[in-house]
Amino acid sequence: MRGEVWRRSANHSAMTNSRHNVIIVGGGIVGLAVALEITRRFPRLLPLVLEKEDGVGRHQSGHNSGVIHSGVYYKPGSLKARLCVDGARAMIEFCREHDLPHHVCGKVIVATRPEEFPRLEELRSRGEANGLTGLRLIEPEQLRQIEPHASGLRALLVPSTAVTDYSAVCGRYADLIQAQGGTILSSTAVTGLRRLPGEVVVETIGPVFSTSYLINCAGLFSDRISRMAGDDPEVMIAPFRGEYYDLIPERASLVRALIYPVPDSRFPFLGVHFTRRVSGSVDAGPNAVLALRREGYRRTDFNLKDLASWLAFPGFWRMAAKHWRSGLDEVHQSFFKPAFVRALQRLVPEVGEQDLVPGGSGVRAQALRRDGTLVDDFQFVQSERMLHVLNVPSPAATASLLIGRAIVEMASENLGVAS
Ligand SMILES: Cc1cc2nc3c(=O)[nH]c(=O)nc-3n(C[C@H](O)[C@H](O)[C@H](O)COP(=O)(O)OP(=O)(O)OC[C@H]3O[C@@H](n4cnc5c(N)ncnc54)[C@H](O)[C@@H]3O)c2cc1C
Repeated sequence: MRGEVWRRSANHSAMTNSRHNVIIVGGGIVGLAVALEITRRFPRLLPLVLEKEDGVGRHQSGHNSGVIHSGVYYKPGSLKARLCVDGARAMIEFCREHDLPHHVCGKVIVATRPEEFPRLEELRSRGEANGLTGLRLIEPEQLRQIEPHASGLRALLVPSTAVTDYSAVCGRYADLIQAQGGTILSSTAVTGLRRLPGEVVVETIGPVFSTSYLINCAGLFSDRISRMAGDDPEVMIAPFRGEYYDLIPERASLVRALIYPVPDSRFPFLGVHFTRRVSGSVDAGPNAVLALRREGYRRTDFNLKDLASWLAFPGFWRMAAKHWRSGLDEVHQSFFKPAFVRALQRLVPEVGEQDLVPGGSGVRAQALRRDGTLVDDFQFVQSERMLHVLNVPSPAATASLLIGRAIVEMASENLGVAS
């Protein structure tokens, strides 16, 4: 079966107290991409992936918009820009090669107020500086030819944007890793890490492992895994829940492909938008609400430990002081459907409350510094015998193959020693 992974109970005795060359914590798209790259570059290392859930891609990697981003948003020269542009090409190629669902549908970023024109121009310049071709500023008549129900004063057409199903991508990464001799052990939460001379001891809810090198790809828990090892990540993971509505099938024709607003440059989030998925269904969202639990997919989800660690982190208060107004707007949008719908009507005026039914949600892992600023770029930090992946928000699913390469490149000196 595609993406099937070892269950802890079935292989408990075989794996107990075993020694490994490299262990990866987290079976999301990033951890899997890292393991896949290790099997390609260092085939003798046979990586072991430890995942706390009963399968791969159960959190961010399986709860996202499924967009293969082109790279138009990101600061030229940043890791996000470099790894997204090449990563998008690599992802489309991977989907083609492995016969995974994907569709290069293009998208429009729509300015609905004249004040947004300079930002739209800036996005085009950024995109071009990042090497994208075919970007075009279009007027309302051309916008209507592409998206007949969208309304805007001007738009940026991004023809290379595509969609896929990242759960299916994770499943295929897992198959390839295992076919190359790597192991993915599910239902195996890492509970403790100890550095001893020449090794790292990895405690889990089941077996204890020893490894020469550890790569932390624990997503929403990557800061905790780093602290577990005695390192100071200097950031805290802020969980931002993104909630979706689905367009009812009778109204899905309102959207042909992807319709986005001009994003607010102060935030790493793109604003609620419309996405036609590879399945053909259309969803609207996600918003960005601070969750009261790291894996808090519902508004009522709450965890005292998560909340207490938040309140003790100075960056939280600084962020709250700076962004409380927009934070309240997002909460308002979360609790009051009419507010959510109003944001969508700026893009597609015909959409009504009755056209939208609650969809799923996802929780983004966004690193926050002590000074209250959100880390914008991808962030990977090395320490003795370890590498911590501390910030890989969107477009990390798009860029996953290239992120895997970059991380293995960073760690290669240590991995090379182990091989
Ligand atoms: C709502 C939303 C929409 C998005 N849309 C897009 C998009 O359209 N395009 C795009 O490119 N990106 C998008 N992203 C971003 C993308 O999904 C993420 O950047 C990417 O999935 C991050 O992958 P990851 O492997 O780091 O994290 P995850 O998928 O969260 O994986 C981390 C894994 O670590 C495991 N773990 C945690 N702690 C432990 C432990 N102690 N022991 C063992 N395992 C542990 C978790 O169970 C989890 O499976 C979106 C994200 C969200 C939330």
